[in-house]
Amino acid sequence: MRFFSLGMVVWLAVALSVPPRAAAQKATGRVEPLRGYTIMAGALGRAPKDAKDMWSNTVAAHLSFIEKARINLVVVELPYGISKRYPKSARVASFIRRLKKKSVQVWVIYPHVLAQTFDLPRQVDGDGKRVEWKVCFNRKKTQDWLVDNGKRIVEAYAPDGLLLFGLFHKGGSCHCDSCKKDKDARSGKSMERFFLRFSKELHEVQPKINLGTTGFWARPSRKALGAVDIVSPVVGIFRPGYAKAGRVKKELTGLRSRYKGKLLVPYVKLFLASQTDSKTEDVLAAAREGLRYGDGFFFWGYNPGHQYLRQDYDHEKIESALLGLAKNKRK
Ligand SMILES: [Zn+2]
Repeated sequence: MRFFSLGMVVWLAVALSVPPRAAAQKATGRVEPLRGYTIMAGALGRAPKDAKDMWSNTVAAHLSFIEKARINLVVVELPYGISKRYPKSARVASFIRRLKKKSVQVWVIYPHVLAQTFDLPRQVDGDGKRVEWKVCFNRKKTQDWLVDNGKRIVEAYAPDGLLLFGLFHKGGSCHCDSCKKDKDARSGKSMERFFLRFSKELHEVQPKINLGTTGFWARPSRKALGAVDIVSPVVGIFRPGYAKAGRVKKELTGLRSRYKGKLLVPYVKLFLASQTDSKTEDVLAAAREGLRYGDGFFFWGYNPGHQYLRQDYDHEKIESALLGLAKNKRK
């Protein structure tokens, strides 16, 4: 009696040859390097008022750039301008659906300027001054707000990733009365507790969500490592030659050794070239370093519709260089 059909033998051979799933691929299993940029959710859909209006943020401009430069990651910044309905916006939801159809990965980043909009507890700097635009992450009110709104964001948009901006795990960055009294706030332990809670509650809503921050622990504990999926250090392109001087490489190789198996995607912060003297080539050098020493990059402050940036940077050159990087895959 033939016990196995040929089909079964082939199936068995294939099944046995499949390597075990790597633990590091927990999140999305994506290995393609990420090439992305942030969009300001509140300004999405804004057309220039007249020929002199420098600011536009049309869906058409984004979709065209995404197509031409083969962008595969869009990081949506909330909430700019949608604070009353925070975080829901039908326009943003529809844009995200279109991105997903194109297999573009979507992350959402917050808080940022939420401190003022929602009157969350503020940080106090080393000189005892209240910093209006920075939230104190150690306070229960802030933490509850972050978790509740994280859940609402996930329910509204089902993004692939969620990044907390400005959260620095190591502690000691805030000098408010509450942080001064709290040993765990200074050591960073309370940040770890918060992030573990954040991870647990967000995964209950969307089990496959990737979570990350723009800050990190100097020596992450095993627990902390388990909760973090994305590490996005802020790399500011303040000066010409910044990437070439090896600063991006140094930052990324250091983080890579501490955060093995995590998505390491630097948040490349651009400013108007006229404010920083940085050139188109500096922007592209940072992107290349992100691909070489990390898992990609995303630009902040770069928007294909912004005429301001078109004045300062060579948009066509950036578009074609990004397409070249997409074709090259790695390095
Ligand atoms: Zn504080």
